[in-house]
Amino acid sequence: MKFYSTRGGASAANASEAIVKGIAEDGGLFVPERYPDLSLSLEEMLDMDYAERAAFVLSKFLEEYDYEELLRACEEAYSRFDEDAAPVLKLDENLYILELFHGPTLAFKDIALTLLPYLLRAGCDNAGIKDDVLILTATSGDTGKAALEGFKNKKGVKIMVFYPDEGVAEMQRLQMTTTEGDNVSVVAVEGNFDDCQTAVKKIFTDEAFKKELKENGVIFSSANSMNFGRLAPQIAYYFSAYCDLVGAEEIKMGQKVDFVVPTGNFGDILAGYYAKKMGLPVGKLICASNKNNVLTDFFETGVYDVNREFFKTMSPSMDILVSSNLERLIFDVENRDPEKTKAMMKSLSEKGRYEIDRARVAHLSETFYANFCAEEACAETIGNFFEEYEYVLDPHTAVAMSVYDGYACENGADRPAVILSTASPYKFPSDVYEAISGKYESDPFVAAEKLEKESAVPVPEQIAALKSKPVRFMKKAKKDELKEIVREFALK
Ligand SMILES: *Cc1c(COP(=O)(O)O)cnc(C)c1O
Repeated sequence: MKFYSTRGGASAANASEAIVKGIAEDGGLFVPERYPDLSLSLEEMLDMDYAERAAFVLSKFLEEYDYEELLRACEEAYSRFDEDAAPVLKLDENLYILELFHGPTLAFKDIALTLLPYLLRAGCDNAGIKDDVLILTATSGDTGKAALEGFKNKKGVKIMVFYPDEGVAEMQRLQMTTTEGDNVSVVAVEGNFDDCQTAVKKIFTDEAFKKELKENGVIFSSANSMNFGRLAPQIAYYFSAYCDLVGAEEIKMGQKVDFVVPTGNFGDILAGYYAKKMGLPVGKLICASNKNNVLTDFFETGVYDVNREFFKTMSPSMDILVSSNLERLIFDVENRDPEKTKAMMKSLSEKGRYEIDRARVAHLSETFYANFCAEEACAETIGNFFEEYEYVLDPHTAVAMSVYDGYACENGADRPAVILSTASPYKFPSDVYEAISGKYESDPFVAAEKLEKESAVPVPEQIAALKSKPVRFMKKAKKDELKEIVREFALK
């Protein structure tokens, strides 16, 4: 399987090279040359456990990886989760919730980031690369901790995480800044996530800087969802959820299912689009945004325009205006034409906007439905949902649920829908407790205890333990200081 850059300015890579590089030399994202068809394999996947399903899906892309080793790596990664890595719960007729937060850091990012260290190491071996790898990661809150947990104390790797100083929830910050391990570093950056992500992308395409580090035996890679190694493991849970529904006789094999995805960087939902391309019977992919609704506008009008106010919300992992992974969808929409994709991305970086034509908007609407949810509606959804189902939604999942309610009103709820639940509510205890009880508690640990009393859902150990862990990383930086900080850490 070959991988090409969406912008056409880099040589083709195999999966190993695509994963190790993270992002193509021309700033584009690696995409597979074709979508392997798994429609006839669904039956076979019914009897597999989660790790087997993941290895099976991944192996279709990672052709040069040893299958037995890949399977063992999946087993090991998903043994770090609660009993089931991605359980599906039935909440109501035609309404299901896919819980993706049972991993070490309580967010769906764990699904890919518990596995990425293996994918990267084996990728280096396959590609004959002997250098040390420095992972650079911009985070809107959850990727950072998941990547730190995945890579801490791994040999031959260092990891540096950048988060927007004012842009993450308190629990998310504490999760990151208390990380143990001697190969990790965490830096707060002035500005929002987009500033962070753009600054890190700039380092990735700084050829002189890359050359300098390479001469010192260090190469860069990325743990962001621009890395195909992040995307591929996420495809697996769409297949797994579908198989679980068939297995439980909730749906018939071949029946279409909608997936509702709380979206920020467009990585999670893009994995759903890939699953559909690979033959999974997906009805609509419902793209749910918070108040930062640049994607809603795009799917409605074809105009992607980031020249707008940036809002901080209670779903900070979706406070994003530049959704990196949309580039992979644009590439497909433009008939896999790298010149067109490149021109649009140039327009995005120069003017903050690009546009696709009307016919393509209509074409996209066959697969995607997009809408957004304001802050009050998000809190209301958490409250109402708890009353109705005694189920506690985190704010990101609540955004998805609220958008789905609107969709079901407009279109009916006659097709089964799976809501992707992306985080534990205990990562955002103050907002969730307030939504459920009407009372505000600013101390996140006190809020967590109160939420536990109110909901009878136990506080996860990982959260309780944070209270007594020393903060190790307090560094704050400006955007233009990142390169120097990276250099110092890389050469240390
Ligand atoms: C990252 C994240 C999202 C958004 O996922 P994308 O792949 O960036 O679209 C949603 N919810 C939570 C809790 C997240 O951590």
